[in-house]
Amino acid sequence: MNELIIFMGPPGAGKGTQAKMLCKERNLVQLSTGDMLRSHTKRGTELGIEAKKIMDRGELVSDDIIVGMVRDELSQKPAGEIRVLFDGFPRTTAQAEALDQLLAELNAPLRTVLLLEVNEEEVVQRLLKRAELEGRSDDNEATIRNRMEVYNKQTAPLIAYYESKNLLVKANGMGAIDEIYARLQEALT
Ligand code: ADP
Repeated sequence: MNELIIFMGPPGAGKGTQAKMLCKERNLVQLSTGDMLRSHTKRGTELGIEAKKIMDRGELVSDDIIVGMVRDELSQKPAGEIRVLFDGFPRTTAQAEALDQLLAELNAPLRTVLLLEVNEEEVVQRLLKRAELEGRSDDNEATIRNRMEVYNKQTAPLIAYYESKNLLVKANGMGAIDEIYARLQEALT
């Protein structure tokens, strides 16, 4: 059976960790556009080289490229067996509208949009810590602040977009990993 969930939240909200746990338990595939772009960069594809410059500034890769990647990924899945957790997508209203159209074509409606809510200052601190541990080239303070601004300007409007479709469920993202996970499970029942 299809199951499509969007997982939203500001950069550093801890979506990645929670997404992995949710996918394992619910037999979903995590579709992270950030991971897909980083994989291109690692393989040295033309798209990867261009995307890296944009990611390192904390800006967004063009909607056409992102929607194309998601379309390719979803269209490989057998009808009726689309089980995905979208992580880091959609990030703009244009992406959300393109996703609506794509899902209408695939006859695979969204089940829920989960919003992980966190305190912005806390999140910046977490990202700075991750920068030290993982050394991701887009985890430095200037880029982190810019990603937050981009989120507030371009992605936060999707909260109202999905609220108006009655799809949005909010979960408190502050606290221990297990506590947050329990809240997400609750939000999905
Ligand atoms: P984070 O959630 O920590 O910001 P992601 O891995 O989701 O990290 O994204 C890293 C970068 O990849 C973003 O800052 C952006 O440049 C690019 N990116 C990822 N997903 C998208 C998307 N849906 N639209 C545009 N750019 C994206």
